[in-house]
Amino acid sequence: MIEKAHQILKEYYGYDNFRGGQENIITSILEKKDTVAIMPTGAGKSLCYQVPALLFEGVTIVISPLISLMKDQVDSLEDIGIPATFINSSLSVSETNRRIDGVNQGKYKLLYIAPERLENEGFAELIKGLEISLVAVDEAHCVSQWGHDFRPSYRYIFSFIKQLPQRPTIAAFTATATEEVKNDIIHLLRLYKPNLFVTGFNRENLFFSVVKGENKKDYILDYARSHKNQVGIIYAATRKEVETIYKELKQIGLKPAKYHAGLGTEERKRNQDAFLFDDANIMVATNAFGMGIDKSNVRYVIHFNLPKNMEAYYQEAGRAGRDGEPSECILLFGPQDVMIQKFMIEQTVMAPERKRNEYNKLQEMVDYCYTPNCLRKYILEYFGEENIPDSCGYCSTCTNDSELVDITEDALKIFSCIFRLKERFGSTLVAQVLKGSKNKKIIELGFDRLSTYGIMSQYTEKEIRDIINVLVADGYLNLTSGQYPILKITAKSVNVLKNGEKVYQKVHKKKDNLIEDNTLF
Ligand code: ADP
Ligand code: ZN
Repeated sequence: MIEKAHQILKEYYGYDNFRGGQENIITSILEKKDTVAIMPTGAGKSLCYQVPALLFEGVTIVISPLISLMKDQVDSLEDIGIPATFINSSLSVSETNRRIDGVNQGKYKLLYIAPERLENEGFAELIKGLEISLVAVDEAHCVSQWGHDFRPSYRYIFSFIKQLPQRPTIAAFTATATEEVKNDIIHLLRLYKPNLFVTGFNRENLFFSVVKGENKKDYILDYARSHKNQVGIIYAATRKEVETIYKELKQIGLKPAKYHAGLGTEERKRNQDAFLFDDANIMVATNAFGMGIDKSNVRYVIHFNLPKNMEAYYQEAGRAGRDGEPSECILLFGPQDVMIQKFMIEQTVMAPERKRNEYNKLQEMVDYCYTPNCLRKYILEYFGEENIPDSCGYCSTCTNDSELVDITEDALKIFSCIFRLKERFGSTLVAQVLKGSKNKKIIELGFDRLSTYGIMSQYTEKEIRDIINVLVADGYLNLTSGQYPILKITAKSVNVLKNGEKVYQKVHKKKDNLIEDNTLF
């Protein structure tokens, strides 16, 4: 059968080879095994059910929630000579009936339907004479309340299938890989001993990096300046941050656009168009930006803040390099970001179990920032792929373009200051004491008499806070949660204080070729 599948691939689609994973999925479906395929958008899942549809007797039903895309899908199938049709609420009753007649006369190999159709008890009756070999469930995570877009009508899929005279093979497709969603798909669709495939998550042309302990604003301005002719997206957590970054990029003469939910529909559209049609080459946005955006030449995606989980991160970062050209995905990590995300979880009303789940996913996002191992491996394992090499050679861990700088001396000063302050204050005050600030509060509290007062006066307060951030990010210090986070010493810093262990900071080597264009002459 798989040879025939190859023939179809060539004959109808004009492709020479299946992509990684497609062949295994198709084989599983052709063997009439229930199948769950987890693949990211764009990995080529449509082929995985379309090819078997052509090889099976009778018709394949495709359940898809994306009414707006159904017509396009069916049109492009017809373009390549595959008879297909769709039924959804956009059609008149008479047109719907005409199509159902067509299906019953065996005119089509694929029938796309919206899940709402299945709520209508009569639907199974209408097509009861049909031979249905395969039911392909697209966006199968919609069946789960754990997913990001639960669709109650997906719960009718099973009762629909139960009414059919003969149980078809069921193939479920989704880009969401979490355990909860996967289990829901298997149980709520009553899949029978399904084969599970996770594939297509690797994006070879994307260079992943995590940058810790740098001044994030400076980093972005430097980066944007030294890549000023390239197209990029900068994601920030809040509207306010989007506005400031946008303004600062503009001030240094670059061409940014901005996008967030606080802007009117018209302005959003205008800004988005400016970006799509190259009037602006940097999009500064909240996560409201990107759905359905297909700009292929995005050379970098920088995250100014930590996203809430790996799914969100990978989806946003994945907007880089759609054209297959080398592109960068940079995540700027600051410990305060964890606070922001925790705060957002706390603010949202949800069941305790769900809250715990959100916290766990946030933790896995934080772990990505801390992992000393290959970032690509971390990502692919997160999504459930197997047999991933230890080193990809194309991420900030594997290329290790950073050098370690010994910051033990500064770290010791910071630790002892926190110690003298009895671990009761946050980084602002600690930095002020170390700087030797004449701030009224410092004097009133008598902190100018501490032995650590002014021992880091060669730095600015901000520089001291940056070093503190590095120490937090690397686990030497803890920040308590709450509105006013307090710095605490950890076991790791006790090792430095008592056992003379050294503290290093990873610093990116300055690249000589990144001199600003206008200084060349
Ligand atoms: P998904 O549904 O997973 O988002 P699609 O099925 O729309 O992705 O496929 C994305 C693109 O990849 C389409 O343009 C499709 O034609 C192309 N594609 C899929 N499989 C192959 C293949 N084996 N070889 C080349 N191109 C492919
Ligand atoms: Zn790597």
